[in-house]
Amino acid sequence: MHIADDKFAQLDPLGAAKLLAEALRKENADLILTGLQSDDHGFGQTGVLIAALLDLPHATIIMQIEVQDKKMRLKRELEAGWFQHIECPLPAVLSIQSGINKVRYATLKGIMAAKKKEIAVITGESLGPNTSATQKIEKIYVPTKTKKTEFLTGSAKEIATKLEILVVTEQRQGKWNNASFETLAAAQKMAEDTGGAVSALVLGKGVTNFADELSGKNVAEVLLVEHDLLEAYTPDGYCLALQQAIASTKPQLVLFPHTYQVRDFAPKLAAMLGKGMIADCVGYRKDADKLVFIRQMFQGKTVADVTFNGDGPWFASFQSGAFRADLLTAHPSGKAPVNKINVELKAEQIRTKPLELFKEAKSAVDLTQAPVIVSIGRGIKAPENIPQAEALAKAIGGEIAASRPICDEGWLPMERQVGSSGQTVAPKLYLALGISGAIQHVVGMKGARTIVAINKDQNAPIFEIADYGVVGDIFEIMPALTEALEKAKS
Ligand code: FAD
Repeated sequence: MHIADDKFAQLDPLGAAKLLAEALRKENADLILTGLQSDDHGFGQTGVLIAALLDLPHATIIMQIEVQDKKMRLKRELEAGWFQHIECPLPAVLSIQSGINKVRYATLKGIMAAKKKEIAVITGESLGPNTSATQKIEKIYVPTKTKKTEFLTGSAKEIATKLEILVVTEQRQGKWNNASFETLAAAQKMAEDTGGAVSALVLGKGVTNFADELSGKNVAEVLLVEHDLLEAYTPDGYCLALQQAIASTKPQLVLFPHTYQVRDFAPKLAAMLGKGMIADCVGYRKDADKLVFIRQMFQGKTVADVTFNGDGPWFASFQSGAFRADLLTAHPSGKAPVNKINVELKAEQIRTKPLELFKEAKSAVDLTQAPVIVSIGRGIKAPENIPQAEALAKAIGGEIAASRPICDEGWLPMERQVGSSGQTVAPKLYLALGISGAIQHVVGMKGARTIVAINKDQNAPIFEIADYGVVGDIFEIMPALTEALEKAKS
């Protein structure tokens, strides 16, 4: 089926998902698979939204699927090398993470058969859903070279209504996800800019200590949502609980840290209220009477200004590292009030069953302790070229590491992967060879004392964080550098 429509270029994630969901509705599929990131200009919401629109259970960032009768056992990726098994009934929607499988090339017979297969071309119009946009890309531009997001203020007139901001924080297994505090800092700044007020929400079971900690921050109130069925995270449980919390507190803007968990449920929550979500923002700006959210597109090569259409509640998430948690200010008079919100949840409303959280067997190499790391990205082109990088690593006395695609391909073992789903490293020297600098890579290495990047694209985002950069071809520089190091040693 080919859904061909010029409208796709203009659609927001919810609009695109509506067209896809309409086409899929007629198929009655047991299992719908989507990619994780790109179908909607990198907002990363398509799978979750299709599930919300078709009222199907879903799971994202899936690394493994075992089907048993009408049930699946799934392996879901979490941050920093953690995984979780979950049980999910069929029919369902799954968003697949890269590296789950090797592409199986079709046989010649298969290719011929595919050529003969008729492709049904369907227009968006014939599908018929109302795809009016909940958000709008105002402008796409090449990012300016600044290390920090710039806040443009100015003579803008005040946003008409007082902006009530609700920040949904994240905790797991007794620990905060620190990105929660970064988002809270973003909300404080927004409230300052707009004369608004910030509330912070924590949900789970037995999480009063987290609420107490939040009440020490400069927020108007802390909302505590507790329920036995919120003990472990499930997208159904979180969406139903938050839907009720939003209905009772009526915020105008709901902010989240852009964690793996948030990508899994927040677009669905927004869709349940008929709203869109501007995901993975790196900053914001107040322009005249509207809030402009800034997000990277196409692996950071361009930046887009995105605004919401219509009334709130609006939903947005901020990328890890976009704001500084240490700028979060304390409550001026000691403690903000903690208010409980009662929510009603029934076990049968929760369709997926979270099982154990686990890490893969401890890896043989501990990149976290390496003082020097030579890291390769897709610029290395082929596994045959890896020995050149290994020779350089040997000459400089460093460990070899890689970006995700290299490990997905099996060119280096997974334990060598640096990034949000790999290792977080902090060497004295990080040499990035042919790595573009996608956020998921950067969060794993930005703590390096000195970052040297070699990339033939002078606009590669890695140069944003590099202390030293060389715009050039790694195949010229790697051997020359190895030779120079060898010479210096002898
Ligand atoms: P590309 O983005 O393709 O960049 C290759 C670069 O090489 C380009 O900048 C190009 O200019 C340069 N180049 C090409 N040829 C040459 C040459 N001859 N000389 C010099 N430069 C050259 N990624 C991770 O790394 N770690 C993670 O943990 C991780 N987790 C993820 C989790 C999720 C949920 C998602 C959605 C993605 C994750 N990713 C992760 C993937 C990430 O988004 C990027 O796709 C990935 O980091 C890109 O890898 P790359 O820089 O090697 O490849």
